Amino acid sequence: MSKRVVPHLVLIPLMVLAIGSALAQTPAPAPAAKLPSVVVLATGGTIAGAAESDVQAGYKSGQVGVDQLLAAVPQAKKLATLRGEQIANIGSQDMNDEVWLKLANRINELTAMPNVNGVVITHGTDTIEETAYFLNLVVKSNKPVVLTAAMRPSTALSADGPLNFYNAVAVAANKNAAGRGVLVVVNDWIHGAASLTKTSTTAVQTFLSPQSGLIGTVAYGEADFYRGPIGKHTTGSEFSLTGVKALPRVDIIMAYENMDGALIDAAVAAGAKGIVIAGVGNGNMTAAALNTLAKHAKNGIVCVRASRVTIGHVGRNVEVEDDKLGLIASMDLNPQKSRVLLRLALLKSRTNAEMQSLFAAY
Ligand code: ASP
Repeated sequence: MSKRVVPHLVLIPLMVLAIGSALAQTPAPAPAAKLPSVVVLATGGTIAGAAESDVQAGYKSGQVGVDQLLAAVPQAKKLATLRGEQIANIGSQDMNDEVWLKLANRINELTAMPNVNGVVITHGTDTIEETAYFLNLVVKSNKPVVLTAAMRPSTALSADGPLNFYNAVAVAANKNAAGRGVLVVVNDWIHGAASLTKTSTTAVQTFLSPQSGLIGTVAYGEADFYRGPIGKHTTGSEFSLTGVKALPRVDIIMAYENMDGALIDAAVAAGAKGIVIAGVGNGNMTAAALNTLAKHAKNGIVCVRASRVTIGHVGRNVEVEDDKLGLIASMDLNPQKSRVLLRLALLKSRTNAEMQSLFAAY
């Protein structure tokens, strides 16, 4: 049988037709989804810390700049378009009002920009709960604002900073994080600013929200949200930094066995407009300390009873006659967060009843 020869002149146009119709059936590739835009504000801390070796306890906070920090976690660029700004580079034990005001004002500017979807703040662990709570009260945006930190310096064996940073970017880029107040993402957990506290001086699992629990969890960038935060925050907060150049002085004094009123008097003499006592138990203290507080409360110094105990509520008029002595109970706020709220509350004159209602609301 003779082979049937199909001339090329016939075959080629047929092939072109076949390829053309196959192409017409293939859907056009979807345009690459635009990544959310997240700005990273660096303030220092152990996440930017460095040691001389990877197995050494001694190190210095705030050694690595924001560009190095971003370069160390290239995986985060797949989650969001990132750019960084250096706000400060300090250990958070040195956190101060100047940095707080600069940071808060910058976050308000950035979150007002339509092309910014979220903000990540890198911070030291020592005072992250205070900064987060301060921002929770003065940032005027529903966009995600997420703080993160690390317990081990960037040079350490098993540094925890890179994954914490990656998770923080994932949360800041996540639409479900919006409207939940300022968040803190450390060690796979998402905390609310009002609820978290540092509980261990060295452990990676140092942060807990012991009274009211977590907002959510995040594992390798996959976030699950369980609930909103407790207390009023951000767009629902009545506090604003508009026109604020300085915050009033408020001191924290810890209660202890045989306490007298000397440190309370000293704080007032140093110019404190408010005093927070980190009381024993349910915000208790000696009769001598209580009498000294009541004396200053009569003269307009706002005196708050919080607790040096990590977990629990400080209630009004339980063992202390707050109504009679003119004192405020801190409710769910620990001493360091009570101080933050009181400093903002003191920007305006308020009655004791109004002060107390702020502690119930925030
Ligand atoms: N002292 C450090 C700081 O708060 C501790 C840390 O970041 O873990 O900056």
